Amino acid sequence: MTSPAYDANNIFAKILKGEIPSYRIYEDEHTVAFMDVMPQAPGHTLVLPKSPSRNLLDADPSVLPNLITTVQKVAVAIQEAFDADGVYIAQFNEPAAGQTVFHLHFHIIPRHEGIALKPHSGKMEDGTVLAENAKKIIEALR
Ligand code: 5GP
Repeated sequence: MTSPAYDANNIFAKILKGEIPSYRIYEDEHTVAFMDVMPQAPGHTLVLPKSPSRNLLDADPSVLPNLITTVQKVAVAIQEAFDADGVYIAQFNEPAAGQTVFHLHFHIIPRHEGIALKPHSGKMEDGTVLAENAKKIIEALR
């Protein structure tokens, strides 16, 4: 099976264009990171390339070095901001693998020993909580 075409109206494309708000914690020429609105743990962040691809399977390999560099940068900041015991990094390709939004992204989630993750795409978090968590990560990135 080949990947379906990229849909330029997906929700992350709209966030990248500024048509839908997000709690943005990082941006450079090639990548953006913002808070997941249905976090599986406090601090759950998404890292995206600005260039369009549905997921990793159809991504231009030239975007990957910048993308994984931002994933690492944000993961280190999240570990510090949430005093995490570990950092979970995940990326899903196509619905059968759990993908629900079709613009390539990595999930970065701080983990603490003995604390289970909440369900994927579960409950919408309060905006003030997302803003507070975003602030912690932005401070750790400085
Ligand atoms: P996927 O299942 O595609 O790997 O993950 C998509 C993620 O996007 C989910 O964790 C979900 O909570 C999150 N999400 C869905 N809609 C929005 C939105 O409008 N804004 C933000 N910031 N995150 C979203």
